[in-house]
Amino acid sequence: MAYAYDDQNIFAKILRGEIPNDTVAESDHSLAFRDIAPMAPDHVLVIPKGAYVTYDHFAAEASDAEIVDFNRMIAKVVDILGVGPGADGEGYRLISNAGRSGVQEVPHLHVHILGGRVLGRMVQPAD
Ligand code: AMP
Repeated sequence: MAYAYDDQNIFAKILRGEIPNDTVAESDHSLAFRDIAPMAPDHVLVIPKGAYVTYDHFAAEASDAEIVDFNRMIAKVVDILGVGPGADGEGYRLISNAGRSGVQEVPHLHVHILGGRVLGRMVQPAD
């Protein structure tokens, strides 16, 4: 499958340092920063530094080092936020929206980490 990446998306601009972000953690291949419009008391986005549009794009084409780094960054952010239920936190939710049905606004892979309140059911029932 061919994945078309638009390097003018807002997260690409953050990665190039063209616009600011509220960084939580950074590693060789990943960046974690607070969502500008938080939907929960804790709302952090984790993105790879590479040009990947969606999770499936990343899973299909990223290097092993990038994939390990990205997943370790998710674990690190959960630890920083203190939301891991195994670490006496109250829990959290991971979301990665893709494409039109997923209502993805920014076409650079990102995982939302949400916590700090009970988040309700995962999706709304269909009409
Ligand atoms: P999605 O619908 O999964 O593509 O979500 C994109 C997310 O990016 C939304 O939650 C936005 O609030 C967030 N967002 C957009 N611009 C910025 C920005 N400059 N800094 C941090 N978060 C942003």
